[in-house]
Amino acid sequence: MRRERAFDAVIAGAGPAGSTTALRLARAGFRVALVEHQAFPRFKACGEFMSPECLPLLEDLGVAGDLRALGAREVGAMTLHGYGRRARGGFVDVGAACAPCGHGWAVRRELFDDVLLRAALGTGGVELVQARVTGLVRGPEGQVLGVTARGADGETLALRARLTIGADGLRSRLARELGVQRAVPWLDKLALTTRYADVPWGDGAEVHFLEGAYFACTAVDGGLVSLNLVVDRERYAAQGLPRDAALEAWLARVPALAERLARGRRVDPVRGLGPLAHRTTRQTFDGAALVGDACGYVDPVTGEGIWFALEGARLLADSAIPALSAQRADRVALEGYARARRRVLAPRAAFATLLQRGLRHPRLVRTVLGLLEARPNLADVLVSVTGDYVPLRELVRPRTWRPALWATADRQAS
Ligand SMILES: Cc1cc2nc3c(=O)[nH]c(=O)nc-3n(C[C@H](O)[C@H](O)[C@H](O)COP(=O)(O)OP(=O)(O)OC[C@H]3O[C@@H](n4cnc5c(N)ncnc54)[C@H](O)[C@@H]3O)c2cc1C
Repeated sequence: MRRERAFDAVIAGAGPAGSTTALRLARAGFRVALVEHQAFPRFKACGEFMSPECLPLLEDLGVAGDLRALGAREVGAMTLHGYGRRARGGFVDVGAACAPCGHGWAVRRELFDDVLLRAALGTGGVELVQARVTGLVRGPEGQVLGVTARGADGETLALRARLTIGADGLRSRLARELGVQRAVPWLDKLALTTRYADVPWGDGAEVHFLEGAYFACTAVDGGLVSLNLVVDRERYAAQGLPRDAALEAWLARVPALAERLARGRRVDPVRGLGPLAHRTTRQTFDGAALVGDACGYVDPVTGEGIWFALEGARLLADSAIPALSAQRADRVALEGYARARRRVLAPRAAFATLLQRGLRHPRLVRTVLGLLEARPNLADVLVSVTGDYVPLRELVRPRTWRPALWATADRQAS
């Protein structure tokens, strides 16, 4: 038998995008069902680095204190290694863009996501429905009226709402049901993730570029170091090795990193995730919207996916709250969200895509790393842009580049 329930909004997925959208809608007085099939705290494959621009959002959500209390690590810089080059960049003011603070944060995702979920539930307006979303409830004209879901006990649910939100991550069931998910074949990658204890580590995150792969690593709370390998799926398949052996084989190509990790011990299994890349052709519908990774893959190389999820949730709530207050959730009423995505998120996604395309050309990577090594202040500019607080238009202004180049000379001389 199917049990029917009604809410103002139903959200599939309780990751950062889902929980923070739920929190914002509940704060505005709406009743929200948050449907999640995994029991929290749950593991999530991630580099676990948060860009500086996440911090004002987390303050606004009222969880920054909780994260500090968990021991979230401050990440003050990013060091880029590869092809014998090494460039370190910090999070600094760039042109007219001021850094919200001089660091990002790094914290285990199972803890971070749990804090966000608890904050959403703490509003009193969010009900956690422990179930897997299986499909959409549609009206006679195709408009979305809610979701169907299956609980752990096999019970079938129909959760009806004026607004249905797909925040169900990379493999979004809702994006598929809405017919807007497309693969991105040239970005066909796989990630291997694990963590180490007792590794000597500084205050920065590191990216190590190799042909066809890169490692991203940072210290997180609890004295752990989080390690991700992102590798072209074809190369991984050609290796034909189990995950542990594949990770070790790639690590052998970055001996300095391998030697540091070997001073500690691996405390997590090597987990795999892939394929990773997809995009969506649109994100608003009559009665529904997508947010976070459900909208498309954000490559971990720049560590921006969490910001995309938190900022996307803010933009969606800004549009959904007046729409729901007016008893509407049609595509026209959600146009503000679509517009804001085009203005705020699309240029950053395009920039990340440009970087990913560049990474496929080892000669280009070597040249750029050489330039950044010789001009550390340019490395600051690049790293700051990935910190999500520098509007991309700053990059076309000479005032951004000139001081960076002059200051570089000072920095090298000093
Ligand atoms: C290897 C790797 C490394 C990364 N490193 C970084 C990094 O260092 N920094 C950074 O900012 N970003 C990073 N990212 C990206 C970041 O992890 C994502 O952008 C972010 O988690 C998106 O949040 P979300 O809420 O949209 O999705 P998710 O965090 O994936 O949450 C989706 C939730 O939906 C649930 N769900 C899925 N399907 C259903 C269903 N049918 N029914 C009910 N529930 C469902 C899932 O269980 C999950 O809890 C990385 C990604 C990868 C793959």
